[in-house]
Amino acid sequence: MSRPKIVILGAGYGGIMTAVRLQKQTNANEAEIILVNKHNYHYQTTWLHEPAAGTMHHDRTRIMINDVVDENKVNFVQDTVVEIKREEQKVILENGELDYDYLVIALGFEPETFGIKGLKENAFSIRNIDSVRKIREHIEYQFASYNNDKEKKKERLTLIVGGAGFTGIEFIGELADRVPKLCNEFDIDRSNVRIINVEAMPTLLPGFDPELVEYAKNILERKGVEFKLGTMIKECTEEGVILSKDDQVEEIKSNTVVWTGGVRGNSIVENSGFEAMRGRVKVNKDLRAPGYDNVFVVGDCALIINEENDRPYPPTAQIAIQEAYTCATNLLRLIRGNEELASFKPDIKGTVASLGEGEAIGTVGNKKLYGSTASAMKKIIDNRYLFLLGGPGLVLKKGKLKLF
Ligand code: FAD
Ligand code: NAD
Repeated sequence: MSRPKIVILGAGYGGIMTAVRLQKQTNANEAEIILVNKHNYHYQTTWLHEPAAGTMHHDRTRIMINDVVDENKVNFVQDTVVEIKREEQKVILENGELDYDYLVIALGFEPETFGIKGLKENAFSIRNIDSVRKIREHIEYQFASYNNDKEKKKERLTLIVGGAGFTGIEFIGELADRVPKLCNEFDIDRSNVRIINVEAMPTLLPGFDPELVEYAKNILERKGVEFKLGTMIKECTEEGVILSKDDQVEEIKSNTVVWTGGVRGNSIVENSGFEAMRGRVKVNKDLRAPGYDNVFVVGDCALIINEENDRPYPPTAQIAIQEAYTCATNLLRLIRGNEELASFKPDIKGTVASLGEGEAIGTVGNKKLYGSTASAMKKIIDNRYLFLLGGPGLVLKKGKLKLF
């Protein structure tokens, strides 16, 4: 009898954890497991603000897939997914195609630009290794060019971050740490550099604990960040951004605009005909796509409603990892002929966000954390994930071992 074929698309948190769980739990020859990913490495999306600002080398955030996936159990295919043909149970890749008995869609997120003019063309985004390497090199080039210009151009040293959600805040914290080092390296007075955060809502980190938000704002302002709150980015041009606040329009010239104003699920999901809201499929409790009993969706491509407030859970790595556990359990049950599947219930342990070296804010359980304690907690969370993925060896190889 032929083995059921499980195809997992994407090796981010949701995809690689599903593969690793399955490789641990399946018996030899119980299933054929195929993992498809664009690159031959998994990267830690949750660390990308650091290489984007240049405070960490991007290689520290990536882990070769063959280092964590057992090639005797999982067949890794390096390729790019183009389309899912649902009715034919087939995945079209750039260099071929794959059929499946069971599919796991874990293709992650894309920046959401809400149709704002010029953002796609002119702004950078923090999405993957390629995109953050480009941001770091671009900023370094601006600093390196400044003293070579005949007329010293302020826009080279005006750095704009659009959006003060967690990504924007974590990135700006790193940027504020990096700028004094760049000034030193390229003989530039710090007072010539502006780091501006633009946020549409009246506060940074809308919805987060107000006391911790105030703490974050003070820390970042002390590091020289300017906040423009209650201010919308209306347009991004080749010259900079056009902002609006209370019907007042302002243009800021800048060569560097990084958009962190929101995310959506991978557009392949809706382009393949799945019913989705901003690329996210509202999955059943067992994580299957409605109407497709052999298709699971996990991570940022999945939408799950929090029944306590009737709002979607935010797309996070924390939830993607937990979904992977349930997804692997349910796949095992299906291939073993057990139709009674487990329901997914997120277990939100808290949220911790860094504000640069040695500084962070967070809530863990009902405890508020800030400063060096929160920063150490953030590193413990990062190390815990490495432990789940590759055991103590991976923590020693890639972990953040200096907690304070
Ligand atoms: P992703 O991590 O996006 O992985 C998707 C994978 O699919 C990637 O490997 C990609 O290469 C691959 N892929 C994409 N398209 C294709 C294709 N067409 N073909 C083949 N492969 C493809 N969440 C937290 O819980 N805690 C945090 O501290 C936190 N910090 C964050 C910091 C930053 C800077 C950012 C940007 C996000 C952060 N998040 C955090 C959110 C978290 O990173 C996402 O929710 C998480 O990455 C989603 O995981 P995923 O597996 O769905 O997708
Ligand atoms: P987000 O949607 O959480 O935040 C985007 C911010 O941009 C919002 O505050 C929004 O008001 C603002 N914005 C939108 N349009 C704007 C405009 N035109 N002008 C100015 N501001 C505008 O997006 P994110 O920060 O990328 O986070 C994505 C997901 O990743 C979230 O679920 C988040 O919780 C998660 N995340 C978690 C962490 C952490 O736990 N440490 C870190 C980063 C991201």
